[in-house]
Amino acid sequence: MSIKKKSRYEIKLMKNAGEIVAITHQELKKAIRPGISTKELDKIAYDIITSHHATPTFLGYDGFPATICASVNEMIVHGIPSDDIILKEGDIISIDIGATLNGFVGDSAWTYPVGEIDDEKKRLLDLTEKALFAALATVKNGSTLNDVGGAIEDIAVANKLGIVRQYGGHGVGTKMHEEPFIYNYRVGDKTVLKTGMTVAIEPMLMLGKDDVVVAKDNWGVYTKDGSPAAHFEHTIAVTDDGYQIMTCLD
Ligand code: MG
Ligand code: MG
Repeated sequence: MSIKKKSRYEIKLMKNAGEIVAITHQELKKAIRPGISTKELDKIAYDIITSHHATPTFLGYDGFPATICASVNEMIVHGIPSDDIILKEGDIISIDIGATLNGFVGDSAWTYPVGEIDDEKKRLLDLTEKALFAALATVKNGSTLNDVGGAIEDIAVANKLGIVRQYGGHGVGTKMHEEPFIYNYRVGDKTVLKTGMTVAIEPMLMLGKDDVVVAKDNWGVYTKDGSPAAHFEHTIAVTDDGYQIMTCLD
C-alpha cells in the first residue's frame, strides 16, 4: 500500500480547501431550522463553495447529484438533498461537505440539532464528537490506525452505542478517497501514520445496534433498527507530535 505524504506547500493548499469547507459548515449551521428543506441547504452550500472559486467535490462523484450529503435522524450518511425533506424541530441532521480548490480536497461532516432535541440525541451528538476528538488525540507521527479505530470503539462500547462498521475514514489529498481506509474500530491495523499524511477521520455512531441498510436509491445509508445516527469528520494532516486540522478556520 502506498500512502502519499504531502509537502508543506501541499498541506497549505489543503488547508485552503479545508477552510472553504469550514466556512460552508458555519453558514449551514446558521441556516438549519425547522421548515427548511435539505435542498435549500444544498443550494446555500453550492453558492458558498463556488463563490470561493472552489468546486463541490461530491457533485458528480460516482454520479452523486448534489453538493452536500444531508442525512436526517436514522439516515447515517450519503443522503441526497431534496425539496421533500423538510427539517422539523427535534431532528438531527448530518451534513457532509467536500470542496476542491487548486486540486486539493477538504472533507468534513458534522451533525447538527434542529431546534431543541431530546436528551438521547444530545448524548449521541456529544459522544460522537467526543469520539472524533479522542481518535484525533491518538494521531501523531508513528501512531497506528489501530489506535485511531480503538479510541472510537472504546467510547462507543463504554456508552453502548452502535458503530457503523461498513464505512470509515480515508486518506484524502488530490482525490477525496485515497489510501488508507480507516476503520472506526479495532481490526489490528498496524498501518503507521507519518508526518505529512493527510487523512479524514470520521466516526459514525448510533443509539441502536450496528446494522445498516442502504436505500433504494443506492445512496442513503440508514440504521437498520431506525435509531438515530451521528457523524463527525475532520480532514487533518499528521505532524511530528500530533495533527493539524485542515477543515477549520484557525
Ligand atoms: Mg465526508
Ligand atoms: Mg470522508
